[in-house]
Amino acid sequence: MSLNARSALVTGSTSGIGLACARALAREGANVCLNGFGDAAAIENERAAIEREFGVRCIYDGADMSKPAEIARMVARVEEAFGAVDVLVNNAGIQFVSPVEDFPPEKWDQIIAINLSSAFHAIRAVTPGMKQRRWGRIVNTASAHSLVASPFKAAYVAAKHGVVGLTKTVALELATFGVTANCISPGYVWTPLVEKQIPDTMKARGLSREEVIEKVLLSAQPTKQFVTVDQVAAALVFLCSDAASQITGTNISMDGGWTAA
Ligand code: NAD
Repeated sequence: MSLNARSALVTGSTSGIGLACARALAREGANVCLNGFGDAAAIENERAAIEREFGVRCIYDGADMSKPAEIARMVARVEEAFGAVDVLVNNAGIQFVSPVEDFPPEKWDQIIAINLSSAFHAIRAVTPGMKQRRWGRIVNTASAHSLVASPFKAAYVAAKHGVVGLTKTVALELATFGVTANCISPGYVWTPLVEKQIPDTMKARGLSREEVIEKVLLSAQPTKQFVTVDQVAAALVFLCSDAASQITGTNISMDGGWTAA
């Protein structure tokens, strides 16, 4: 197991991509902190399952990633519980679909806070420890929307482009400290985040559910298949390996060819 004795914090890991990433890191031997919202009993089930299945320690912290003070508190708690945050996965994210003229300003602020600023606050908090230990992996879940736009997603596309700039900057600053910073940019992954935007996309574009899946979602992906959460998690595990120690400041596309077009 490649991550024995390492510790990881995965934001937004009560669901979807983040949960798959947390489980994959635990499978590699890392202690893991889960974060995100959801039903308390369901989260406790996931937490206990990770400890049971992989023989690591797993804690849960419900920090709201739109609140900088809660992010700092969570990082301090994980460092105290596990002795370090060696792997930080900035994954928490939300979506909102609306024409720009109707886009609620408070939704803009919320998406920038959760999808972009939270990564800055978490990176800021873990960096001193990673530099001191001279080892770290920062992996940010960006998106195909970090490279290309789609209409009606102004805040999301802006935030994801921003995450790439943040990642490149941090990669340069930490390059001599054994710390890498990279993005993984999936195309459409079948998760609750995608499922939840279907009704609004139906409204914004005047389409049926099936038409949204075929004409909006999978039409962007030349392979005509959704990416799986386990494929994203496998890329994360690779970025955490020694083989990837010279991969830093990059944005790895996993989008079925979407951004090649
Ligand atoms: P998801 O809705 O299944 O999971 C999102 C997670 O973020 C959940 O655990 C949720 O509780 C958490 N979260 C939301 N707001 C939060 C907050 N304020 N504080 C703490 N946690 C919060 O979505 P997903 O599809 O797994 O998305 C995960 C990441 O992947 C996001 O950054 C998303 O933008 C990105 N992404 C998703 C897709 C896709 O097609 N699903 C594609 C590209 C990128």
